[in-house]
Amino acid sequence: MSIKETQNKIEAIMDQLYKEEEFLTEEKGESRQKVFDSGKEVLTTTDKIIKSYIRVPKDNREIVRIPAYRIQHNNIAGFYKGGIRFSQGVNEEEVENLAVLMTLKNALHGLPYGGAKGGVDINPKDFSPRELNMVSRKYVQRFAPDIGPTRDIPAPDMGTDERVMDWMIGEYKTIHPGQNYLGAFTGKSIENGGAFGRREATGKGVYHTYLWLVNEWAGKQQEEELNLEDGVHRKQFNVLKRIYEQHKNRQPVRLAVQGFGNVGGVAAYMAYHCRHSAHHVVAVSDHLVTLYNENGLDIDRLLAYHRQHHQLPATEEELSEAEVEAVPLHRDDILTLDMDVFILAAIEDQITEKNMKEVKADILVEGANAPITSEADSYLHEAGKVVIPDILANAGGVLVSYLEWKQDRITRFYTEDEVLIEMYDQLSKTCDKVFPDYFNDRLPDIRNTCYLKALKQLFLLLYKHGKLY
Ligand code: NAD
Repeated sequence: MSIKETQNKIEAIMDQLYKEEEFLTEEKGESRQKVFDSGKEVLTTTDKIIKSYIRVPKDNREIVRIPAYRIQHNNIAGFYKGGIRFSQGVNEEEVENLAVLMTLKNALHGLPYGGAKGGVDINPKDFSPRELNMVSRKYVQRFAPDIGPTRDIPAPDMGTDERVMDWMIGEYKTIHPGQNYLGAFTGKSIENGGAFGRREATGKGVYHTYLWLVNEWAGKQQEEELNLEDGVHRKQFNVLKRIYEQHKNRQPVRLAVQGFGNVGGVAAYMAYHCRHSAHHVVAVSDHLVTLYNENGLDIDRLLAYHRQHHQLPATEEELSEAEVEAVPLHRDDILTLDMDVFILAAIEDQITEKNMKEVKADILVEGANAPITSEADSYLHEAGKVVIPDILANAGGVLVSYLEWKQDRITRFYTEDEVLIEMYDQLSKTCDKVFPDYFNDRLPDIRNTCYLKALKQLFLLLYKHGKLY
């Protein structure tokens, strides 16, 4: 979904909110219109876009000039917060859209943060550790005045990890001697004040959100109690009930995961080892290949291979080294394979107008940010498929980042159990706000319900702060 599509969605939902008479009853008539117009204006305008260039001498002494971004969308709910991605081709529009999604995600889950995002236009695989260390430190040098524990708090995203966060916090500390620095970055190593379980948090949260919807909500819901006249809502409910029955009866549910990095690798592991279901992880993919086995792939062996080679085995030789039985297919074949559940955990714009009609999965979970375009999203919804949107499903990382930031301020460290309990608890609470309302009030779609809840919160904060006129 592009920045324009996200902004259009925000505007449409603000119009929907304007018509909700019980929302903001104190504003009526012309004044109500003005207040809503100004809310729309604020939430579709980005606070600050910073672009810089990082110059780094490569190991062969060639100097490369790399575009780098930090974009802060809105901080009405708290300090700016959002990951930094190292990814080839990353651009201003992409980073700005991701910053807006962070504002919405944090508001939806009740976090005291605004939204921001960072990007560096490199393929980290083409850089040596020394070069990556330099890119990370120079990024902090460029953006130092705009980041900090009470200003803007970056975290890992695609292509970055705890090693990068450790380098970045080290540089931040050097630049700001004597200042409180630990909470300036999250997703750090444990030694550097990181939280137990942060690395796995997003993937675990993605899987939890899907399982909660099927087992905890649809499984326990009596159809008669729901107001299910509309065809799409009924179709979706039937999908959830069917998958729940399969879980309950230990019948295999065919699940696939696109992207085998931090988020996708963990989500695949969770599905493979889940005690509450009998998933066959029939396909996984990365930037090179899709691996398919209709009886289920051996995820433990694939993870072991990936730990060593940082990619999936893509040839017959590599598969035999990994001791995995699978058919290697084209990277993008995963999008349209026969399956019940599809976790998208790679990059943006994977399901589009071009392939949406070929999608077979009945439940699609957005582990990645914006992997489904607007048109495809509407089409899949109308077809009765259940799309669990990014801002709902992939918030595990930022929820645990919040705990890390808190523990760095009070220097009382959470145990891994405490971290996971808090994360699952908050994700379940948010799901419990979204799904019953979506089905009972027959709201337009699940993404719309999430946006509506987030925007209500942001709009009220802007109003109470006296920022709308
Ligand atoms: P990562 O760099 O660890 O992994 C990305 C994976 O996607 C790799 O396996 C890569 O090979 C694969 N990939 C890249 N292009 C692909 C393609 N065209 N087809 C199939 N696979 C492809 O990144 P990550 O941290 O796992 O992030 C994945 C997504 O999740 C991103 O959209 C990111 O913004 C989102 N996300 C991450 C976090 C987090 O905590 N890491 C939090 C929220 C959202």
